[in-house]
Amino acid sequence: MTKKYTPGPWVWELQDKSETILGKQSSVGVDLENIVLSCVRCEACQKQNNLDSFRCGMPEPADAKLIAAAPDLLAACEYVLEHGTTKPNDKASTMLREAVRRATEV
Ligand SMILES: [Zn+2]
Repeated sequence: MTKKYTPGPWVWELQDKSETILGKQSSVGVDLENIVLSCVRCEACQKQNNLDSFRCGMPEPADAKLIAAAPDLLAACEYVLEHGTTKPNDKASTMLREAVRRATEV
């Protein structure tokens, strides 16, 4: 099966005060060759220069985690569909638990 989406894992990274990007994780953050999404703050928020109110230009934290976990959730679902799972600690269960953790952990 050909995967046309950007391979995971995905992470969010604050680029500067005006932009947050989502992309494939590298050893130093987002691999700039594999950016999935770029969220730019409006001019008013950029002028305020307050990172505490960085909601503009970035999804809600819970949504951001769910979006970033999409490749893991897909991989876990594909694995279970192909191999099935019946045991609490088999690979399928482990993949599902990890994907849900990445999607929801606080
Ligand atoms: Zn704004």
